[in-house]
Amino acid sequence: MLPTLKKLVFDVAVVGAGICGCSTAFMLAKAGLRVALVDAKGIAGGGSGAAGAFIAPKFVKSGPVKELSEAAFHFSLAWYEQHFGAWTSSSRLLHIANNALSNARVAYFKTHTSLPFSAPDPQLLTQLQPQAQAFESLLLASSAVVDVKGACSVMAAEAQMFKIHVKSLRHERGLWHLGALQARHVVLSTGAHEHLLDIPYFTPRAVFGHRINIHTTTHNPLNMHQFVSISKSDSKGIIAIGATHDVHYNPLRSEVSYDYAKGRMELLEKASRTIALEDVEVMEDFTGVRAASIDHLPLLGPVVDFLKTVETLPKISQGKEYNINQYKYYPNLYMMNGVGGYGFVLAPYLAVMLRNYLVHGSAIDPLVLPSRFVRRYMMQKCR
Ligand SMILES: Cc1cc2nc3c(=O)[nH]c(=O)nc-3n(C[C@H](O)[C@H](O)[C@H](O)COP(=O)(O)OP(=O)(O)OC[C@H]3O[C@@H](n4cnc5c(N)ncnc54)[C@H](O)[C@@H]3O)c2cc1C
Repeated sequence: MLPTLKKLVFDVAVVGAGICGCSTAFMLAKAGLRVALVDAKGIAGGGSGAAGAFIAPKFVKSGPVKELSEAAFHFSLAWYEQHFGAWTSSSRLLHIANNALSNARVAYFKTHTSLPFSAPDPQLLTQLQPQAQAFESLLLASSAVVDVKGACSVMAAEAQMFKIHVKSLRHERGLWHLGALQARHVVLSTGAHEHLLDIPYFTPRAVFGHRINIHTTTHNPLNMHQFVSISKSDSKGIIAIGATHDVHYNPLRSEVSYDYAKGRMELLEKASRTIALEDVEVMEDFTGVRAASIDHLPLLGPVVDFLKTVETLPKISQGKEYNINQYKYYPNLYMMNGVGGYGFVLAPYLAVMLRNYLVHGSAIDPLVLPSRFVRRYMMQKCR
């Protein structure tokens, strides 16, 4: 159990107030810890602020990604509904395949998922476009769309918020120093931004995305996903459509300005392949960068001190395999990252795992530990 420190020093500083940082700060503060939440741009100013925040599982075949996605979906949906009901709009989800491969995946998913679903009402399908009727589909009993700013603000309110750009991290006499702030433990949830320390074994894969809110006279009765996600109509006739995926353009590193008109056209064209939308007016654009990992699993847990590890275990650079307990770790430093396009689904689930690790000493699922990338990185360097 972590002892609680007093006054100006925090038990935990969480760097990054996206959904990863906000849900972590919320869970740790609720567990009785004194938490500082630090972000250069304030609450949900990064990729999270751009998200449509659909809470839906990944429709993938069997394997760890599917298992994690379903467990996280199950947990997070209930968590948002319980704690952030005013910011959570629940609805069934009509998921439709969009090509031959995903057709096979959806068919497989139906026979292997533990999530409750039914066949869509044939009358509903006839109201959709021929491309929607031609493919496998399923109606998931539940899904949701979260109001990002609203929910993240409520989460952040449990911690003490600081709008600071952290330039460096220094560990001295048992405390991490983040400029003027001090904390015993630090959680890095900085998304696709530059790492604050040398973490060469994980470079977030930046995936730029654009989504829009539109007004339309067409009423959409439920959340849908085929070529893009399309939310159910709200009381004002607003529908969220998203998102595009671009691994070549990264506004965090590029001077080139983004072509919003082209992005809008792509989104509206993709949505129109599922449902005909009448009298459309684009109300708002949202763009941001998701941080993904190469194995499609997130990263959660202690951060390996790479240089010290190589110094202590020099044969690792020749490919020798060591138990991860032999690696050297930064003291009391953890990361949550690589949540890709499912941050709103994964983050609350991972935040509970981190809370249980820090507060109760429970193990973190080895599948998500950042240390899994260390040997892989060394092997690649040796090639
Ligand atoms: C267009 C779009 C649509 C999406 N739709 C969905 C969806 O429907 N459902 C879903 O689950 N996910 C969706 N996502 C993905 C989701 O947004 C991401 O998974 C999520 O935002 C990742 O959250 P994060 O906290 O890791 O990163 P971010 O939200 O990017 O937060 C990182 C934060 O760290 C801060 N930071 C970084 N470095 C520093 C520093 N040195 N000092 C201080 N602050 C720092 C940044 O300012 C930033 O606010 C979407 C993403 C995009 C772009």
